[in-house]
Amino acid sequence: MVPTASRTRFAVWTGVGLLLAALVLSATSLILNARNTALAESEDQVRRFASGAESAMNRALLSFDVLLASTGDLLDLSTSQRSELGGRGARQLLRSAARQNLMVRYVALMDEGGAVVAASDQAGLHAARDLPAGFFDEAMGQAAPVLVASAPTVSFTSSERVIFFARHVQMPNGRRLLALAQVPSSMLVSVLMQGTDIPALEVTMEHGAGDVLLGISSRGEMRRAATVHPLGEQPQPPDGVSGPQVQRWHQPTRLSGTPGMVVARPILYPDLWISASLPLREALDNWRSERNTIVLVALLFGATLLGIAGFSVAYLNRMHRARRAMAQSQATLEQALSSLVTGFLLLDAEQRVRQWNLRFEEIYPWTTPSLRVGMPFTELLSLCAPYQVPEGSDAERRHWVEQRLMLQRTPRGTHEQEMRNGHCIQITERPTPDGGMVISYHDVTDMRRASAEIENLAFYDPLTGLPNRRLLLDRLHQAESAAERSGERGALLFLDLDQFKTLNDTLGHEVGDQLLQQVARRLSDSVGITDTVARLGGDEFVVMLRDLSSHDGEAAAAARRTGEKILHQLNRPYQLGAYSHQSSCSIGATLFGHKPQAAAELLKQADIAMYQVKAQRGNGLCFFDPGMQEAISARARLEHDLQEGLAAGQFVLHYQPQFTLTGALVGAEALLRWQHPQRGMVLPGQFIGVAEDSEFIIPLGLWVLRTACEQLALWQQEPTLRDLHLSVNVSARQFHQPDFVPRVIQVLQETGIRPHLLDLELTESMVLDNVEETVAKMHLLRTKGVRFSVDDFGTGNSSLAYLTQLPLHQLKIDQSFVRNLGVRHTDDVIVQTIIGMARNLELEVIAEGVETAEQRDFLARHGCDLYQGYLLGRPMPAQELRQLAQALVPSSSA
Ligand code: C2E
Ligand code: MG
Ligand code: MG
Repeated sequence: MVPTASRTRFAVWTGVGLLLAALVLSATSLILNARNTALAESEDQVRRFASGAESAMNRALLSFDVLLASTGDLLDLSTSQRSELGGRGARQLLRSAARQNLMVRYVALMDEGGAVVAASDQAGLHAARDLPAGFFDEAMGQAAPVLVASAPTVSFTSSERVIFFARHVQMPNGRRLLALAQVPSSMLVSVLMQGTDIPALEVTMEHGAGDVLLGISSRGEMRRAATVHPLGEQPQPPDGVSGPQVQRWHQPTRLSGTPGMVVARPILYPDLWISASLPLREALDNWRSERNTIVLVALLFGATLLGIAGFSVAYLNRMHRARRAMAQSQATLEQALSSLVTGFLLLDAEQRVRQWNLRFEEIYPWTTPSLRVGMPFTELLSLCAPYQVPEGSDAERRHWVEQRLMLQRTPRGTHEQEMRNGHCIQITERPTPDGGMVISYHDVTDMRRASAEIENLAFYDPLTGLPNRRLLLDRLHQAESAAERSGERGALLFLDLDQFKTLNDTLGHEVGDQLLQQVARRLSDSVGITDTVARLGGDEFVVMLRDLSSHDGEAAAAARRTGEKILHQLNRPYQLGAYSHQSSCSIGATLFGHKPQAAAELLKQADIAMYQVKAQRGNGLCFFDPGMQEAISARARLEHDLQEGLAAGQFVLHYQPQFTLTGALVGAEALLRWQHPQRGMVLPGQFIGVAEDSEFIIPLGLWVLRTACEQLALWQQEPTLRDLHLSVNVSARQFHQPDFVPRVIQVLQETGIRPHLLDLELTESMVLDNVEETVAKMHLLRTKGVRFSVDDFGTGNSSLAYLTQLPLHQLKIDQSFVRNLGVRHTDDVIVQTIIGMARNLELEVIAEGVETAEQRDFLARHGCDLYQGYLLGRPMPAQELRQLAQALVPSSSA
């Protein structure tokens, strides 16, 4: 099991703790050892020093003792000459004796009274002055002759610190004298110190009771600065062996009283001790720096150890975090892979399976039982082969595997696999940097289906399922290219159902749709497999026939045969729900393949031919003829010229007078003329039809109305013309404009004419088109005073019924009847009937196209009210009409 991070950290810190503990222990033991060694060394040193000092002091004191003891004998020599006891002889002897001992300043002898009886020099004679108080008595008082040392004192003569050593000597005469020697304490110091270099060593010579005779430290002589236990009262060593009295460390030193080690020894002379003491602090001076070094090294080592441990732990933490992050991203990756909607397979450089996701297994469920890491990809493909090629032989399946591997080798990136279950899998293969491969499997079935649907919508008509205009044009383009290569002609048949609009309006769109669907089926059944049936929209269909013949005539004949077959098929009755319906169609045809032509151009040709059939009441077939094209082009040019003409003011109105039988001028008809710069004066017959077919009649009609009213307004100012009526022709399209009535009223108001002088000429068919609307509009204008006339009366299917409904003022007998008066009996009857009918309805009757007196007389005999025609006056400019009116005035008044 992989150790967790905390466990590893614990192990590291525990190891470090143990190492640190060991380090502390070793450092401590080293320090203690060093301390003990330092103490032992110091102790040893002090002890050696003390023993040396003891011997030296013993020798020195012994030398004083011997010197003083010998003074008795010296004096003995002079006993023979008592009188000279204090004389020169004795002094001589003492001086030479004193000179034997270099430490001694002088030797003197004092009697029991304290007087100096002899001295080695002059200073000695005054010895009594130098002696510390009480010393004489103390020395004299000794029971046995022993050497006694005085307390240190300052010599009067030398001003040095001195110590007196004394003993009493017994003169042969029984007299007791005190022999004393003055010794500078500096001499004793050098004896005692023996040139030692132990720093801070404190050396004393003292009485057992504690009085210090000599006190020396490294800084020179010093006095005692602390209270210490008298040496004479110190306990003896336990073993009873006499020897140096050793104090343990932490005793107060003999001079400064600081804690340290004291070695004290009694010397040969009673109650005299020497001591050597070393303060602990100084004894440990060297050790301390050693200790500091050890501590420093240990600290450094410990810090290094901690540093290494910290670094290791940080490194471990980082490692752990990195490992955790890796594990996490691995888990996330695996989760992401398993939730991918795309199948995924990873191959290594040896083409063996390394990883895959759940989706892969969903797409290829049969691989699941055998799928394993390390499985060769070929083996995986072999597993798939039976499902991909279920009916195939082993060889075919091997071939499939090889094909699949081949696809992988050729780096095209993406290819698609059709599954047996109808699914389409898009396979994308990308090499990985390590030489392996990532293969993704994306199910694009829905996408393909959707794009097929989109394509269907884009290229097919949803109602009939037939190709639409776009696909037809595309196929036509292809067919033309093929025809150019092969020389085989093709044909386009443009079909339009006759009266489809009526069916749609009367029975509804659903029934209309049913008819279209049945027509589509019949058309598809009537053509070959290479031919195309398309629906352009509405009731328009196109059939494209291919490979008819390489000869134009034969190709046309074949196309005609198919067209007639279609006509026959479409003429058969249809069952549309409950209705049985009879229909027909108009077919325009055109050939292609004999010369390069744009597809749209061909379609237009067939369309033109179809309109030719329509114009001849439909239900037939007509081939396109270039003349038709020319006519249409001319028409388009004319339409364009008309628009320009209106803008350029090329239109004028001529006025044809209208008379009573008696020859009175009562009115005129405004007739449009186009003064074309090249064509000359163009009559309405040549352009009114074109204008009426397009929207152009609306601005043109408005211009006529306004110009006519303006003319009427001008006539108002002339007495001969002011009562003239003016008839204005109104086209159907113009009249059916929603704003026709307000426009007329606006013109009336703007020109300010008297409305009852304006006659609007409508045609019968226009009135019949939408009777209700027409009646409403006429009534509106009638209330304003405007009058209405039915132009070309008799040519339409007029009935009495509508005549009675309309607010009419006049009927205008069509000139075709007038022309044949007296020639064709039926026309005579018609004219008589029209006049009779108008009488009954109390309408005015006017005859147009009166060219002969016979015609006029016939009309007059039957009661016609007014007359218009070349016999009486041609259409003329306003100016001429004015002259005519003026010319008529005198004759009529005459
Ligand atoms: P319409 O309204 O029936 O006009 C009478 C036509 O008969 C006029 O032809 C006139 O010149 C002609 N006409 C008059 N008397 C005789 C005659 O004795 N013998 C012969 N052979 N013809 C005669 P126009 O001017 O060529 O007009 C033809 C048609 O054009 C008019 O027939 C009218 O329907 C239409 N039209 C003329 N001007 C206008 C107009 O301003 N607006 C509209 N919408 N149509 C107009
Ligand atoms: Mg007219
Ligand atoms: Mg007419």
